[in-house]
Formats: sequence, C-alpha cells, structure tokens
Amino acid sequence: MAASCWAEPPIVAVPRCTFDFSAAAGPLPPPVAHEVAEACRDWRGQGSVLSLPFTSDAFAELMTRTRARLVDLLAIPDSHDVLFLQGGASAQFGLVPLNLLGAARAAAYVESGHWSRRAIGEARRYCDVHIIDGDAALASGDAACEASGADAASAVAYLHLTSNETADGLQFRDWPRTTLPLVVDMTSDLLTRRIDWPRIGLAYAALQKAIGVPGLTVVVVRRDLFGRARADLPRVFDYTAQSAAGSRLNTPPVFAIFVAHAMLGWIAESGGLGALESAIARRSARVYRVLDEAAIYRAAVPVAHRSRTSICFGVGGADGNERCIAAAHDRGIVGLRGHPQAGGLRAAIYPGTGEDAVDRLCEFLTDFRRRH
Ligand code: PMP
Repeated sequence: MAASCWAEPPIVAVPRCTFDFSAAAGPLPPPVAHEVAEACRDWRGQGSVLSLPFTSDAFAELMTRTRARLVDLLAIPDSHDVLFLQGGASAQFGLVPLNLLGAARAAAYVESGHWSRRAIGEARRYCDVHIIDGDAALASGDAACEASGADAASAVAYLHLTSNETADGLQFRDWPRTTLPLVVDMTSDLLTRRIDWPRIGLAYAALQKAIGVPGLTVVVVRRDLFGRARADLPRVFDYTAQSAAGSRLNTPPVFAIFVAHAMLGWIAESGGLGALESAIARRSARVYRVLDEAAIYRAAVPVAHRSRTSICFGVGGADGNERCIAAAHDRGIVGLRGHPQAGGLRAAIYPGTGEDAVDRLCEFLTDFRRRH
C-alpha cells in the first residue's frame, strides 16, 4: 500500500449540543467523530471502512499502527505483549483464570465494589477465590496474600484488582504491593493514568469508555505468563495462541480498531498521556469542588479514594436525584443516572469528555443548587 494513503485527515471543529456523561460509553471528541463519519462513507479512496476486509494490507497496517500508538502512549515495555480481543471485559472475568491458573487452583481477588464482585463470581466457576477486603487494600496499600503453597496446586496464581469501580465511584490511586502477578481491570480508567508496568502481570480493558466503540478489548500481558492456559480452551480465547497470531486468529473487530486508532491519534496530538491525566484530574476536581461546596449534594466516596473518572453523588431533598436528572436533561446534559445497583447520580469523565462538557456540568450543578 502506498505510504501517501496515510496522510492525516483534516481536523474539523464540530460544535456539540448535547453533553453525555454516561459511564457506559465514552464520547468521541468532535474531530474524531468527524474522521470516523467520513471514513464510513469512504476511507482514503478504498470504500467504506465498515466493509474493510481484515485480510487486507490496509487493515494489517491499521492494526500495527493502532498497537504502536497504544504502546507509545502507555509506554508499554517489551516485557509485555498487547492483544486485541472481543467479548468485553466480562469475557476476561472468565478468560483470566482460564489462561493464568496453570497448575494452581486458587486466585486472590480484591473485593471493592460491583465490578470486582462480578469478576469474583465468574472466577469462582474455575478456581478457589481468596477474597481481600477492598477497604483493607485501600488503607494499607498491601494485599495480604502471597505466592505461597507447598505444591503448585495449592498456590495462588495471581491477584486481581479493579482499579476503578465504575458503579461505586471508587478508584485505587495506587495499586497494592504483592509478590503475585497483579491482574488489573482498567476498563474505566485506561488512558487516564500512567502505568508502572513492572508491577503489572496483566491489564485488561474493554475500550468503549476510553477510546472508542464497543467490540474491542485490550489485554496487555507479561510474556512470562504465556503458556499456562487450560488445554481445552478454544484457541481464540487463548492468550498465547492469539499473541502468536498477532490477534488475528479470527476476524478482529475492524471498525472498533479503526475508531481506537483515531482516538489514540487525537490523544497523542492533544499532548499525550501526561496531558490527558492532568486534564482528567483537573476536570474531576472541578466537579467535586462544586459538589463539596453545596449541602444539597453528597459525594458517595471519601476524598482519598474518589474516582477521577466515575463521579458518584446523591442529591438531597424530596425526589432530589430525579429532579436533578430531569433538569440536567433539559439543559442538554444527559447520562447522569447512576448504576442501577448503586442509585444516585454519576458523571463519567473519560478521555473524550471535553472541558466544554465539564464547564456545562459545573454551571448546571451550581445553578440547580441556587434554585433548590
Ligand atoms: N469492568 C468494569 C470496571 C466496568 O466498568 C465494566 C463495564 N461497565 C466491565 C468490567 C464490563 O465491561 P463489558 O460490558 O465490556 O463486558
């Protein structure tokens, strides 16, 4: 394929009229949305990206570039491989034990909220689960579970952590110290913080919140953890087999990879991960400040463990939550309803959430407080 096909598309500013704070999916910044919409019509004179064959040279290059952008932005070292898989983070709840247990029959899980409980429930189908209390892990920074066991079968294979509890609004600012391979579900905070890779055995994230659309899950795995999968695992779910095939054992989610590529390019152009991390810290701090200044709002989590990407809060007064959600909707601010298990309100601040959206939310919350 001619290199000139890769000329970057023009950045076109498109104003937003609705600001979506839903935790389920992250917004695409206007220039990325524009690039994706154009490519659905025609991508570099080759037809719609929606029907781009995964077997084409153009797709092979797109995948290579997407992986390279991710490696570059997250500073992933050679010790770790990057896999592009499907099935969402929920599939990883089962695939992590199926791939990593090896001869061991147990794994340790930090229980810190809704999504870690979901991961634990799935892991219990395959192994014994040692539960580590989330509050204790937050307080001490240690996970009191070591790689012990007289024989391989009684050993604990890994320690699992949900770095950001999307439903509860709680985030591990630092990760527990452990001698076990640390496995981290980063679905709701990937690309919002730098990662100390030598401490990570495996990190996984469904990417619809951070960089795109549903359908693509990234698994970053330390290479020495390959070769432990159960023999009867379907090969498309086997990390080692997918690594050997460059994540192309079967048809990858071509469109989701295209969108991720565009988002990663936009993040790089906007200053990279450091700039994004600071922007998200600043944006969430602005929202928490508005919440803390008014008696009508109650942030759900103590200051030290508040999530920068999942801001959970309640609104006081008769029917306060519902009135606030309805009033926000009238002002073009949507997606504020909290997770069904947690109730209340929640504002997600993902990589694509712009300063303009946060301005609008803060103005609205200040105004709502004045009027109530
Ligand atoms: N883990 C976390 C932390 C999540 O927030 C979610 C989705 N909200 C999941 C796992 C599940 O992701 P998926 O629906 O892509 O399987």
